[in-house]
Amino acid sequence: MSSLLAKKLILASGNPGKLREFCQLCEPLGWQIVPQSALGISEAEEPHGTFVENALAKARHAARASGLPAFADDSGICVEALGGAPGVHSARYAETAGNRDTQDARNNAKLIAALQANADRRAHYTCVIVLVRHADDPEPLIAEGRWHGEIIDTPRGDGGFGYDPYFFLRTLNRTAAELPAAEKNKISHRGLALAALAALLKREA
Ligand code: IMP
Repeated sequence: MSSLLAKKLILASGNPGKLREFCQLCEPLGWQIVPQSALGISEAEEPHGTFVENALAKARHAARASGLPAFADDSGICVEALGGAPGVHSARYAETAGNRDTQDARNNAKLIAALQANADRRAHYTCVIVLVRHADDPEPLIAEGRWHGEIIDTPRGDGGFGYDPYFFLRTLNRTAAELPAAEKNKISHRGLALAALAALLKREA
């Protein structure tokens, strides 16, 4: 196991849904995760057009502010019929201020309206995780996960967060919000990306 894993890792995210999933996912790996908010570190800007650039910016920001290794994810939902939108703009798709619950509801309403009368409902979640050993790390570890499904018009389930009640898995006949947390974490974009990151870290040992 890498010496990196013996240390604390700062998680550069303030999204409570993501935080919950990362804590569940990291527990069995034995990683000591400290959310950046616990150190009073503000959220970084996410000005870039790609997931990887935004994740790198967030990880460097947290590593610089904490002086510790840090990792960040940038994630979103990419809808085929919308040319990949909302993509990197998923968090603020509906461009409203307000609490996160309101934001999620507005994002979902905008997505369903945009897909009205569109038969092509294919979509995937993407998650890119970047880990830096220090703020100027020239060799960041980069891992990616994708999760394919389709968008339905009527929400189902109350688990997960964000777009989950509308993200339908045909093979399971359930939405992401109807999956128990442990089941979502096994197959989700975030779970896959974290497993890939763990493999990269083992290589460092
Ligand atoms: P980020 O903070 O820019 O990475 O925002 C990611 C956004 O993508 C979230 O706020 C959600 O709207 C959406 N998203 C990412 N992962 C998930 C997920 O697992 N379930 C539901 N929505 C997600």
